Amino acid sequence: MRKGAWVSTLGLHRQIGIEKGIKELKDMGIEEVYIIVVNSGGALYPSKVRPSLPQVGGKDLITPLVKEARKADLRVHAWIVSLNFHQEDFMKRNKYLYVVNKLGISCIEKPPYVDHYKWLCPSRPQVRENLVDTFLEIAERFDVDGLHFDYIRLPDIILPKGIRGRYPGVPKEEVLKPEFDYCYCNVCRSLFKEEKGLDPIAIPYDDPNYQIWFKWRADRITDIVRYVCKKVKLYDSSLEVSAAVFATPSLAYRYVFQDWPNWGLDLYNPMIYHKYYEKPVEWIGEAVKEGVRSGARISAGILIGFMESFEELYRGFKLALENGAVGITVFVYPPPRSELKDWVKKAFKELAKDTAS
Ligand SMILES: [Zn+2]
Repeated sequence: MRKGAWVSTLGLHRQIGIEKGIKELKDMGIEEVYIIVVNSGGALYPSKVRPSLPQVGGKDLITPLVKEARKADLRVHAWIVSLNFHQEDFMKRNKYLYVVNKLGISCIEKPPYVDHYKWLCPSRPQVRENLVDTFLEIAERFDVDGLHFDYIRLPDIILPKGIRGRYPGVPKEEVLKPEFDYCYCNVCRSLFKEEKGLDPIAIPYDDPNYQIWFKWRADRITDIVRYVCKKVKLYDSSLEVSAAVFATPSLAYRYVFQDWPNWGLDLYNPMIYHKYYEKPVEWIGEAVKEGVRSGARISAGILIGFMESFEELYRGFKLALENGAVGITVFVYPPPRSELKDWVKKAFKELAKDTAS
C-alpha cells in the first residue's frame, strides 16, 4: 500500500517548520510526499522558466524541504501546477497564451468563477515548451523521485454539483454555457478549422459536431501531457510521472476535458473529494473502481477534512484499496484539524493489519 500526502510547501514553512512537519508526516505513516514546487502564482524557487511567487521573493523553499524529506527516507514528488498560472508580470507579457471563451473573451479580462482562474492554452507551442522546461528544470535541480501534474486541464465547463451554488450564473444542472466554455483562441480555432473544416465558435451545443470539437480539446490536453512525459523520461527514465486528476474518467472528461486513462502516465491520483459531488464516503470505492477499470494505476486522493469521524475516514481508505487502488494520497498536509493526523495514522495501521491477516 502506497501512503502519500500532498504537502503545502508554504503551509509547512510558515505554520509548522520543516523539521517538525517532516517528523509529523513520518509519524502519520506517510511514505511519500507531493510537495508543491510551482503553484498557480509562481515558482517557490528561483526559476529561469516560471517567475517566482512574489511573496517568496526569489528564495529557494524547495531544497531544504527535499533534504529533510530525504533524511527521513520519504519518496519525493515535485507537485507542479501546470496550466493555471496567474503571475502578474507573466500575464502582462504573455496575454496571447491564455484561453478565450465561446463569447470571444480572454480569461485575463474576465476569468470564470474566481479571479485567479487564468489558464494557459494547451494548443500553443510556447505553452508546451514552457511546461517542458519547467518540468526539466525541476528534475535537474532537485533530488526528486517523481514529477506530478496538477491543474492540467481547461477551466471547468461544468462544476462539480456540490459547489455550483457558490458562483453566480452557474446552472444547478449540467448545462453548457458559452462564458464557461474554453478555448476559442485563434490558434485553437484555426487548427480545428484546418482539420475539420469548421469554425468551432459557430457550432451550437446541440450539433453532433460539438462532441467532435469537445474531444478535439480533450486531445490537446492529452497531447501536452504525453509530450512533457516523454521529455521527462528521455531525461531520466527512472522518474515517476503522475497527475492529480478529476475523480473519475467520465467526470474528468465531461467537466474539464481530461481523458486521463489515455495519458500513459505511471500513476494517477484522482481527487475523489466526495462532498464536492454531494456523494457519501462509499462513493470513493465506486470512483476508484471506474478508474481501475480503465487500466490506470491509482493512488486515491482523499480530502480528509471532509471526514467527520475516524470510522468514516477508515471506511474511505479501505474502500479505495478494496476496489483496486495501489495506495492513498491524503489531501492535505498540514491538515485543517489536528485530530486528522491521528486518524490517518490509525487508519494506515489498521489497514496494514487487515492486509497481513
Ligand atoms: Zn486556445
